[in-house]
Formats: sequence, structure tokens, C-alpha cells
Amino acid sequence: MLETICEVLEDAYKRNWITSRDGNVSIRHHDRDHFYITPSGVRKQTLQPDQFKKIKIWRTINSGVGSAAFNYAWEDMEYTDISAKLRPSGEIPLHFGLQREMGQHSDDVRVVVHVHPTYCVAAMHAGIDLSTVVNSFPELSRYTKVAPNVGDVPPISQELADQCHKNLQLDRNGNIAYDIVGIKGHGVVAIDTSPWRAYEHIERLEHICKIVLASGNY
Ligand SMILES: [Zn+2]
Repeated sequence: MLETICEVLEDAYKRNWITSRDGNVSIRHHDRDHFYITPSGVRKQTLQPDQFKKIKIWRTINSGVGSAAFNYAWEDMEYTDISAKLRPSGEIPLHFGLQREMGQHSDDVRVVVHVHPTYCVAAMHAGIDLSTVVNSFPELSRYTKVAPNVGDVPPISQELADQCHKNLQLDRNGNIAYDIVGIKGHGVVAIDTSPWRAYEHIERLEHICKIVLASGNY
């Protein structure tokens, strides 16, 4: 599936949803205690599977009273020679929080895709909460549950990660109530069981945002 992620990012680049070094994707199989994430600062239209970073998930029991059951940490693992020279995406706090427990995808694969789709970002810039467009376009909600927007947060920050997790209603078991969330002035994050499925949430929301903005009625 790493090859598929490369195809997805190449497609996102062709659609102008990212410039060369933007965008990041992670993938985890339920029976592995590691996940793969795109490297930082690499041109996404020529990304190769051997450039991915392999990230170990450490889970230790939290002995503290009244707090969460586990402590989590991540660690770079050996993967390929090319990968060893690269760093994981700066958005790793966002991905790690969504990959450390897999919730409703506990018997499957979880893919997290972050890109900057033009009309989704434009709609948020125009003041539209992406979770409300579903009211006028019921076809959207048949396949895609859209979370309320995350406000202005700095890119590659723990704050961005925390706000996205909160608005997606991520719980301690990794369950997520929504398929996609928008970050104002930035982009979107979509989650599903394959790269193309996650991508389709973005495509669907992007299409509706384009229609809304073209109508001038918002
Ligand atoms: Zn971004």
C-alpha cells in the first residue's frame, strides 16, 4: 500500500492540492506495532516506497491513579538506507495520535491523509464551517462524516494535532466519530481503511465546496 500512497500524493499534486513538499500520509496494519509515514521535505510527486519512515509505537501501562490507562511514545525504526537519511513528516503528532490505537479499524488498516485541497481551504477562508455544508448537500453525508473546522493553529504543532483529534472526537481507544476535518487556513485530514478511500472523502468534500463557492450563496 506504500505504492498506492505515492500514487495518491502524485494525484494530489496534479490537482494542486499540494505543492511539491506539502502533504503527508501514514498507514498502519492492525496487527503491527509500527506504522509508516511519509518523510519530511521530500518532493511528493516523485515519492518512492523506500523513502517512507517506519515508526515503532511504544505503549506502557500508566501506573498513575485516575489517569489514562497507557503512556505512548514513538521511535524511528530501521527501514531502508534511503529512509535512514530522512526525518518523519513534521505532522507526526497528528498521525501518531490517530495511529497509536485503531478504534473502529482494529481489525483492518488505518490510513491518515493530510493535504491542502483548494476549495476546502477557500471555503474555510470564506468563513464556512465544513461540517455545515452537509445540510444543503445530503449526498455528502451518505459516505462522508465531516467534523467541525479546527481554527487557526500553527502547522506541525502539537496544538494542531490536539485540535484535530478533539474535533474528530478521537477517544482513548482510537475510535473516531468523523471521516474528515478541516483546518482553517491550512488543509484537511481524512481517515479510512485504504489510501484511496481516505482520498475519496477529500474529493467528495472538495467537490461540494467548489459548488458552494461557485454559487456565491454562503
Ligand atoms: Zn499541511
